[in-house]
Amino acid sequence: MRDRANTVREVLWELESIRSRNMDTLDARKREVGAKYPRIAELMESRTKAFRESFAGAMRNPEKARETSQRLGKRIEEINLELRKALTEAGYEEDYLQPIYTCQLCKDTGYVGEPIHTLCQCVQKRVMEKMVGDTDYRLLQHENFESYDETIIPETTLSNGMTQREAQRRIRNICKKYADNFDPGSGESLMMVGSSGLGKTFLMNCVCQRVIERGYQVVVTTAFKLAEIMRDYQFNGTSAEAVREMVDADLLAVDDLGAEPRFRNLTGSGILFIINERYNAGKPMIFTTNCPPPDLYINYGDRVAARILDPVRTKIFLFEGNDLRRFRNS
Ligand SMILES: [Zn+2]
Repeated sequence: MRDRANTVREVLWELESIRSRNMDTLDARKREVGAKYPRIAELMESRTKAFRESFAGAMRNPEKARETSQRLGKRIEEINLELRKALTEAGYEEDYLQPIYTCQLCKDTGYVGEPIHTLCQCVQKRVMEKMVGDTDYRLLQHENFESYDETIIPETTLSNGMTQREAQRRIRNICKKYADNFDPGSGESLMMVGSSGLGKTFLMNCVCQRVIERGYQVVVTTAFKLAEIMRDYQFNGTSAEAVREMVDADLLAVDDLGAEPRFRNLTGSGILFIINERYNAGKPMIFTTNCPPPDLYINYGDRVAARILDPVRTKIFLFEGNDLRRFRNS
């Protein structure tokens, strides 16, 4: 299993190569445009010159550094304005010759925040992706509240008198509010219960994606993977870092509780360990499951079930209706 410090180093190193690739692209663009449009080449040259002169000026008169940098800012702004205009006229995007950043938040440095430097969420996400999952995080990028389309939900009337679409909209709104106001110390958890194909995982991923966007550390996993990790940990003493991630993350999301294989009842105790640690620390969790609550008591025992179904801390949503996949294909 991976070591977190090494993984962070690895991700920062990858960022370094993204940075240099972006700089190469920008250089190529400058050469391309400069060769075709002398006026633009001239503007780029005067921008470089302004930087150089202002830097030299600040070195000569450090007491005037602030003033110099303000003057430079103004000058650069003027040049950029002309540059944008010239680019547009030449048929390019106006930002074509601006620095390229893959992550706008940290400008590919990997760090954000002043004066306290913290790892940017792009790094945290990538680290987590390498450590815990593989495909889960890539999936997440496409499953978010923006891409949530309720027209794929049938309007079948449910036992409570609502249509499936209305019921799901209600759940979706509560989940969105939860994600928008997510508080890692609240201990508030979500439990989504219902048969497969009703959109539980999708909604869970929407919540996780939003919470990640807000800068929190989220671990998304399946009960299957969690069980495997805990088995490694218990039998081989490996995977300790992954276990720590699952315990420490601001939010832990576990998909398909109850679908994991049973290893002579050790699954239950492994899951109990994670749930217990998080529950006692007041850390939020999200679960999806096909098991009705009484079955959770049978499968996991009273201690786990009482924690994940704690009515004070956990909002339980029952998903009912027709399989969305069948509805979409019909
Ligand atoms: Zn970043």
